[in-house]
Amino acid sequence: MYSDLPLSTQVKLPNGVSYEQPTGLYINNQFVPSLEKNTFEVISPSTEEVITSVYESRKDDVDLAVEAATKAFDDSPWTKADPSQRAKALFKIADLIEEHGEIISSIETIDNGKSISNARGDVDLAVRCIRAHAGAADKLFGLVVETGDSHFNYTRREPLGVVGQIIPWNFPLLMFVWKIGPALATGNTVVLKSSETTPLSALYVSKLIQDHNVLPPGVLNVLSGFGKYTGNALTEHPDVKKIAFTGSTATGKIIYKKCAESNVKKVTLELGGKSPHIIFDDANLDQALESVIAGIFFNSGEVCCAGSRLYLQEGIYDQFLDKFVEAAKNTIKVGDPFLEDTIQGAQNSNQQLEKILQYVKIGTDEGATLLSGGVRLPQKGFFVEPTIFGDVTEEMRIVKEEIFGPVITVSKFKTVDEVIKKANDSEYGLAAGIQSTNIDRIMDVSRRLKSGTVWVNTYNDFHPMVPFGGYNQSGIGKEMGEEALAAYSQIKAVRLKLGTAI
Ligand code: NAD
Repeated sequence: MYSDLPLSTQVKLPNGVSYEQPTGLYINNQFVPSLEKNTFEVISPSTEEVITSVYESRKDDVDLAVEAATKAFDDSPWTKADPSQRAKALFKIADLIEEHGEIISSIETIDNGKSISNARGDVDLAVRCIRAHAGAADKLFGLVVETGDSHFNYTRREPLGVVGQIIPWNFPLLMFVWKIGPALATGNTVVLKSSETTPLSALYVSKLIQDHNVLPPGVLNVLSGFGKYTGNALTEHPDVKKIAFTGSTATGKIIYKKCAESNVKKVTLELGGKSPHIIFDDANLDQALESVIAGIFFNSGEVCCAGSRLYLQEGIYDQFLDKFVEAAKNTIKVGDPFLEDTIQGAQNSNQQLEKILQYVKIGTDEGATLLSGGVRLPQKGFFVEPTIFGDVTEEMRIVKEEIFGPVITVSKFKTVDEVIKKANDSEYGLAAGIQSTNIDRIMDVSRRLKSGTVWVNTYNDFHPMVPFGGYNQSGIGKEMGEEALAAYSQIKAVRLKLGTAI
């Protein structure tokens, strides 16, 4: 759509909150229209109404943003000044997100569909994540390598340059922060593309950053737009040194290839998952139930590491399954995400809802038993009931494929070896969960599971300094913590031949 959209619009939210939503592209510390003046509508998943339109970037806009980021990297003090300056800027961003937490939570809820309580949790983790990386900015070290008296060797940890970042729609704020935190802490400059279904919170936080003059021009650039234009242009751009991508495995493969073909960009990929959650006979069953519910129904099941394959040991199978089905039917309140007691909000888009309902049909056709849910709520908005499938076999598509919704499969197992074989039989390897009180079992099983994260007696439990990222086709590299700092920097080795003093 071509239009002369104003650079901000007044948005009135269903909870009565009104605010100014920036709509432009954020380039060089300015909000600007896209060059072709294209715009697209942003739909609320819980009301199906248009929240606002925003400007849509294309290749020429990407070129402008990369140019600004390149200039900032080469000419501004951002990369050269004492890193405590970067720490100060990041602490300020964390403070701003915290101060504006309630409005940002509301934006996340209207834009993504998630419940307001989930959104507040995201804001809290986002603030902690930025603070953790702010604290790391002035604690980056090189090494001195001893090789005898003839040479002096040292290493420096240097930023990469302009990094391109592409994020999905399930955690719009959190993904924004996970990406920019370590990239800025290590002295890079950024061009970030938000998801086409959830561009609002990244623009809102950018406006706070602009208003408070936190970053030099060009250090952070934020583009709304679609994968095939903006994401593709960023991936192919010769001046972008790295792409950090979070999204589906299918898109990750395309990006990996293009990064190689364009200029051998560095790449980190955070991709899909189909994570096993294993409940042993000796588990604390109340705690296990809480973890299983959090594992699959948190954020409406739109979580890359959702514990979507449940394995119950035979001794507790019947008892646990009864309680779980009961809880899914009676305690997970689904609906208006702005209500304080709503646990599960709307799915992010009609397309996502249709995909979930399609998998419910596939599961039923495959012969699995639908124990709860599986239907859309009879109201406006993309709501679906928490869904549990029993009587599944490992070959079924609902057990193998990522559904990315509140849908879980349940299987029975007898032995440790059997469940490890089943758990590891996946093209993915993002996360896994174990519920047990036996420390030998916990240590042995967590060692043998092929996944980037293993949660024990908890699930979907993140910390900003604990690395997160997948094995197998769930990705390459890690987000957060020391690993993320390493992934946004490169090591220069200097070897100096020493003379003799006269
Ligand atoms: P997606 O791959 O469709 O899109 C992700 C992002 O990539 C969007 O911003 C999109 O515009 C962009 N994109 C799409 N095609 C592109 C292309 N050809 N070139 C460049 N960019 C392109 O994924 P999605 O549907 O937005 O998100 C859901 C997926 O993300 C799920 O598979 C989920 O598991 C995964 N995910 C993974 C993690 C993780 O940390 N591993 C976190 C969240 C989501």
